[in-house]
Parts: sequence; structure tokens; C-alpha cells
Amino acid sequence: MTTLIYIFLIVLGLIFGSFYLVVATRLPKEESIIKPGSHCDNCKHELKWYELIPVVSYIIQKGKCRKCGSKIPFITVLIEIITGACFALSYYLYGLDYKFYALIVLLSISIIIFISDFKYYIISDEPLFTSIFLIVLLKFVFFGTKAFVFSILSGIILFMVFLFVKFFGDRAFKKESLGGGDIKLAILIGVTLGVKLGLTAFILSTFIAFPYALFISLKKKEGIVPFGPFLISGLIIVFIYMSEIGNLISKLYSY
Ligand SMILES: [Zn+2]
Repeated sequence: MTTLIYIFLIVLGLIFGSFYLVVATRLPKEESIIKPGSHCDNCKHELKWYELIPVVSYIIQKGKCRKCGSKIPFITVLIEIITGACFALSYYLYGLDYKFYALIVLLSISIIIFISDFKYYIISDEPLFTSIFLIVLLKFVFFGTKAFVFSILSGIILFMVFLFVKFFGDRAFKKESLGGGDIKLAILIGVTLGVKLGLTAFILSTFIAFPYALFISLKKKEGIVPFGPFLISGLIIVFIYMSEIGNLISKLYSY
């Protein structure tokens, strides 16, 4: 039975992964995610259903377009595989608990953000607000009205905190410190973790981002550092180690 669940989740992940790739690469360019259908980037040949089977089509076609023979970027298959692995990992960690569903939502939005923020410096509203909605809904289904209200309030509070940080950060650094997408990402962090753990995730993400920011600024003067991927990484780390970090925080407060 467990093996069947894993196979099901991996297949589901592969399918969702190819959808996430479409979402992450088309929405920042303000293209529709439905039309036109998937096509070869080189010859525009519209892909048939049998050319759209995740991983399988890639292997059968030896990584090339059936029409013009141009290479299909390996990253497309890699993203499908990573998504499949993420779905399986969520089940491995949490069974079918609340955290399983929540982690799938978080890993899914992080895959989309990693692609779109690193490639286009944009975090699109549609996938982000979908993930916020799903997390709030999960809180309601698993924990009831009180958790639902608490979750929404935490999202609003963290959003305000980020606005505050941005307001002063922009003035201190004389350039945009946090982008619009980062501020909206604060809502997701707040609804998922609450205020205290949410702030912990924010601080953690600045530490993770620091070496990368340093590297970029050494490489070129006017480098842009997308903060979204680091924020979402901080969120996921704190989400997975929630109880350990929660204990640590309450210990610090008791001193
Ligand atoms: Zn082609």
C-alpha cells in the first residue's frame, strides 16, 4: 500500500512539476498559462499529448524535439523530477497529516519562486495567493476557526512588519531593499508560521542570503539579489524544524 502511495505521489508530482514550469516561466512575461499549448521553443511545433508525458516523452525522444530535432532543455525534466521527489518527501516526513499537505503547498510555491525570481526577478501574484489561500484553508480544515483567524491575523501582522522594514530599508540603503513580491511573501510566512516563528524565518533567510549577496556584489557592482528564494527557504526550514525552533525560542525567553 505504502509503495502505491509513493508511486502515485511521484507521478502526481511529475505532472504538477511540468505545470509549475509553465506557471513560473509564462506568468512573469504576462503570457497565458493555457494558450498557446505547450510547444517547441525553437520551431513552435505544438506538442501532442504523447510528447507531454513527464520524463517518459523526454527519454523516448532522446531529449530532442520530434519535428526539428532541437534539444529540449534538461532543466524541464529536472524540475518535474524535483517536484515528484518533493511530493514523496512530504509523505515520508509526515504521512497524511496537516504538515504533509502544507509542505506540498510550500515546496510547490518554492519551486515556482526559485524559477521565476532567479530568472525574471518576479514573484507572480497568482501562484503566491493560491498558496496563501490553501494554507489558510488547511488550517481551517485541520484545526478549526480559531487557528484560521489566528493564521489570517499573523499574515497581516507580518505583512505590516515587512512594509515597515522596507520603508526604513529603502531609505537606509537608498535603493529598493525588499521588493513587492517579498512583501507579499510575508503574508504566506505569517499565515503558515505565526508571527514569532515567521520573524525567525525572516532572520534566518537574511543569513542564508548573505553569502550569495556578497558573492553577487563582488562579481558586479549593480547586481540584483532576488530575496524571494531565500525567504521561502527560511520558511521551509523553520516549518520542518518548527518544534525544535519553538523550544529554543521559549528557552531564550525564559532567561
Ligand atoms: Zn522543434
